[in-house]
Amino acid sequence: MPRDKKARRSTTRAGKAEKRRRGSRESAGTLRERARAIVAALADAHPARIELDFSNPLELAVATILSAQCTDKRVNEVTRELFQKYRSAADYAAADPEVFQEEIRSTGFFRNKTRSILSFAQALVDKHGGAVPDSMEQLVELPGIGRKTANVILGSGFGKNEGVVVDTHVKRVSRRLGLSDEEDPEKIERELMELVPRGEWSDFGLRMVQHGRYTCIARKPRCDGCALEELCPSAYSFD
Ligand code: SF4
Repeated sequence: MPRDKKARRSTTRAGKAEKRRRGSRESAGTLRERARAIVAALADAHPARIELDFSNPLELAVATILSAQCTDKRVNEVTRELFQKYRSAADYAAADPEVFQEEIRSTGFFRNKTRSILSFAQALVDKHGGAVPDSMEQLVELPGIGRKTANVILGSGFGKNEGVVVDTHVKRVSRRLGLSDEEDPEKIERELMELVPRGEWSDFGLRMVQHGRYTCIARKPRCDGCALEELCPSAYSFD
């Protein structure tokens, strides 16, 4: 598209977004409708997929713990060998922390992550016969597992919709989209659960992560070409 035409289109869109912002005292019904439209537009724009490699809920749990402050690509490099060596919760529980910490060192925060993974595995052995439980209540009781990780395990490991994953991307995008103005991830999650149909919770979370990673990026969101631009009160407000 010629540059001036593109600029004109962008200005018109920015004007529309500004109108949306000014009239942003949305009724609950309108917000709900907009949220449904966002769910549909996201489904067209992004696959509901997790970028961590895993073949069972235990591997998913370990990979998710390792992914804190680390790229999924790096985690996948590390787990390629790790998952060959540690095949059960008992294997992790019996690991030498000094050795384990070297094996996961490149994912960062390796001492904390070693503590979390080995205590998580020990609790699985002690309380669940070595299996990863498939309920939110039981998962969040385990060391190293908060609601975010539990939602990843339940959604992608067991295909259950028990909540919405709220990581740093989902938090930022939810706020920009005006779906929540909360800061606390659990409060954001509760608001998203009110707005998004239950059957979509897991996929919606995964798609929001993708959207935050590749389109609605932290420093300079790519509003021009964003599939949610017509539905977003923050569009073009970052120039
Ligand atoms: S990229 Fe822009 S238009 Fe899209 S969701 Fe983010 S702020 Fe809104």
